[in-house]
Amino acid sequence: MKASPPTFPRLEVLRDEVRAMRAYAVPDASGLIKLDAMENPFSLPPGLARELGERLSAVALNRYPPADPARFKQRLAQMAGLPAGKALMLGNGSDELIHLMIQACARRDEPGGAVVLAPTPTFVMYEVFARLDGCRFTGVPLRPDFRLDIEALLHAIGAQQPALVFLAYPNNPTGNLFARGEIEAVLDRAPGLVVIDEAYLPFAQHTWMPQLEERPNLVVLRTLSKLGLAGLRLGYACADARWIAEFDKLRPPYNVGVLPLAAAGFLLEHFEVLQRQADVIRSERDRLLQALRARPELTAFDSAANFILFRAADPDRLFDGLLRRGILLKNVSGSHPLLAGCLRVTVGTPQENEAFLQALGALS
Ligand SMILES: *Cc1c(COP(=O)(O)O)cnc(C)c1O
Repeated sequence: MKASPPTFPRLEVLRDEVRAMRAYAVPDASGLIKLDAMENPFSLPPGLARELGERLSAVALNRYPPADPARFKQRLAQMAGLPAGKALMLGNGSDELIHLMIQACARRDEPGGAVVLAPTPTFVMYEVFARLDGCRFTGVPLRPDFRLDIEALLHAIGAQQPALVFLAYPNNPTGNLFARGEIEAVLDRAPGLVVIDEAYLPFAQHTWMPQLEERPNLVVLRTLSKLGLAGLRLGYACADARWIAEFDKLRPPYNVGVLPLAAAGFLLEHFEVLQRQADVIRSERDRLLQALRARPELTAFDSAANFILFRAADPDRLFDGLLRRGILLKNVSGSHPLLAGCLRVTVGTPQENEAFLQALGALS
């Protein structure tokens, strides 16, 4: 009997996990007030944008990026407060660095693989990359008020010996900072790396960077995204140089392009512009939180980030109603049992926040 001819394309050559996955969904936001993705809503002042354009026009696009942009990294390390003797590596967004660290720890060929552990709900990419790389992912549920369940967390760390623990500080999508003493306990107990993800540092203003001095298993992960440069795709990881040297072996050569490097270099020289924008966002966050708390039908949670999580009786109806009024939030109500009823709103410009509050008023 003749074998039937293969049909093309033969997608079965792909890994089953990949074919079963769904691509990260980014909704089309054209024409909408975009309060879904923790972007800084402000653009650069026109004069500065022109100057940036001039700077970028001088970049040699025909050349690969430098193997080690040492001067830029030094500048960044200085601004970030990297302790002397510790190292820093750049990533195409902090997402890439999360993936690199997981790849470095994954033991695909060993039964069960390595364990990646995080309190949940949290930033989804820890779990997505862990599963993709053949790790076991253990999510330890937070308490209903989103504090760490420290007993459960320490117990899981002891029982599962995770290669990597991720702690988003503040946490996304809940917005809160975990208690420092509890994080210290995690650092004491974890057998492997503990990554403290400070994506929202500009709004939280609390950091673990100085602790790199005494914590050889700590990685402090940061990004320029939430500060107003989400389009650049530039993140950085800070740790003991021995860790960074290992991760660097997995970094694709030229992972950060010359344009993001040049733009970030320019913006570090004008950092106060971004910091002033973050100041406005922090005060708008506090105003927005008060306004949400004044609505008895909603429960709004504390936030140290540039977004606020709140619970509504009918989150789907509210999300759709806001969308019809041109306002895009993130509906996280179905993503974890502890987030039942919850929507997440990113802090926008004062005008955008006002439009959001007006629409909320009209819907209730
Ligand atoms: C947004 C976010 C990131 C991703 O940042 P990029 O640098 O844009 O890849 C990482 N961690 C957390 C907790 C985030 O919320």
